[in-house]
Amino acid sequence: MNGLMMQSQLTLTAVMRHALANFPRSEIVSFTAENPHHRYTYADAFGRSAQLANALGKLGARPGDRVGTLAWNDYRHFELYYGTSCSSLVCHTINPRLFPEQIAYIVNHACDRWLFVDPMFIPLLEALAPKLNSVEGFVVLTDRKHMPDSSLPNLICYEELLASQPGQYDWPQLDEDAAAALCYTSGTTGNPKGVLYSHRAMLLHTYGVLMPDVFALKGDEAVLPVVPMFHVNAWSIPYAVPAVGAKLVFPGPRMACGETLSRLIREEGVTIAAGVPTVWLALLKHLRDTDTTLPSLNRVVVGGSACPWSIMEEFEEHHGVYTHHAWGMTEMSPLGTYNPRVPEGLSPEESRARRLKQGRAGFGVEMRIVDEQGNALPHDGAAFGALQVRGPWVCERYYRAAESALTDDGWFDTGDVATIDPEGFLGITDRTKDVIKSGGEWISSIELENCAMALDEVAEAAVIGISHDKWAERPLLVVVPAPGCTPDPRQLLASFDGKVASWWIPDDCVIVDELPHTATGKVSKKDLREQFAEYRWP
Ligand code: ADP
Repeated sequence: MNGLMMQSQLTLTAVMRHALANFPRSEIVSFTAENPHHRYTYADAFGRSAQLANALGKLGARPGDRVGTLAWNDYRHFELYYGTSCSSLVCHTINPRLFPEQIAYIVNHACDRWLFVDPMFIPLLEALAPKLNSVEGFVVLTDRKHMPDSSLPNLICYEELLASQPGQYDWPQLDEDAAAALCYTSGTTGNPKGVLYSHRAMLLHTYGVLMPDVFALKGDEAVLPVVPMFHVNAWSIPYAVPAVGAKLVFPGPRMACGETLSRLIREEGVTIAAGVPTVWLALLKHLRDTDTTLPSLNRVVVGGSACPWSIMEEFEEHHGVYTHHAWGMTEMSPLGTYNPRVPEGLSPEESRARRLKQGRAGFGVEMRIVDEQGNALPHDGAAFGALQVRGPWVCERYYRAAESALTDDGWFDTGDVATIDPEGFLGITDRTKDVIKSGGEWISSIELENCAMALDEVAEAAVIGISHDKWAERPLLVVVPAPGCTPDPRQLLASFDGKVASWWIPDDCVIVDELPHTATGKVSKKDLREQFAEYRWP
């Protein structure tokens, strides 16, 4: 027997309607390349999304067409999110930090019909344009006054495109399984792969993100997404924030600028901010150098790579800001786990150990770890295995792939190695391809990096496996010193004593000026391994 409730499709249009009906005057504040203080309301934003939907219709867009974006976090990108997805088009966000050949591959693979781009990416596209087979026009996200001179064919000014269009649009009734957005993985091995998000997945994920033990967003908050809108929909913040009517604060191209982030947080009363560890290192350094604190900020969400304890400690002790550790991936929309506040009564050591874990599965996500034969391993906090997940916002197959991306029994293999403890807390050990296997046993590079990052003389640290005659592989520690410090490699290695098993301690430590990073701001272990390909143990 079926239930007798209304059938209503779970679409992002519902978020827009809800925000318009309830929070038309909530604000969106943006720092853009042309204006450091752009400010308007949700009513303005969604009116312009309607203008955009009308304009795309005039250009000849048909349901399901992909519209590419190469843009920073600001109000125009927000308008694109809704103007495309809610008018039956697919918002295809492209990471401008990828290699140009990868960008060309992605645009061609997605068959994007138009690209909406920030002016600073015009030179990149001029070089790529002859290779972009499907693109019919380039829309520059600016006004006439700031339009760049360019040789690109069919160059359109965004503000002019919108200007003549009505601010009302007859938003279609969409099927909840219709595609809403598309994002490609960074493709550290092989070509990038497209994850095609449905409206249903995005809406359920939005609920998941808003839960009290996850982002716990309230309408009177101000939210700063420092995670880019070109990567996994900025962790769904552009959907979750309008759903509760909070203020959105966008940092534009100044994502890694401590000064801009600090100013936006203070001036706009930001209460919660989200991003990868490297942006927090930049912000904390700026705060230290300028002796500034952030009274309004009460929590930051850190994910994308393991959050070092030093970030959590400095935020808490100097700024009264709680750091929540989260884990996820492009294929998971991205929320997998979130670490809520630790309960009262834990000792400082217990609390620290728990907070360094990546957290508990959000409601909607199931997790298991398996051995090399695919047998489920115990959730005892000790057994490591390949981490697999399933749930309504997990990718089933990649865009245009013939085959399912799942195991025979319906799980998605994340490519991470992890432990899960009896209370559900996930501890990521490594990515499968970064795992260090010494004498047949796994060593967690993440745990070693956490130890190194806790030292004052260390700004950034990475551990990679280097081949070894006796043990197959041994860990090598690579360190970027903190400004003004000249750490002694032997002392750095000695500091691991008593903190990890003695056979985990790296065999050597090399000091470098900088570490290579991926397009999403993580340390690129692949490039680092290449850099140390000729390294020989002393
Ligand atoms: P890419 O790194 O290719 O851009 P994603 O952004 O989807 O792709 O990265 C997902 C991966 O990032 C995860 O599989 C995991 O290895 C890593 N990751 C994400 N969050 C964390 C975290 N909190 N701790 C450790 N690793 C993390």
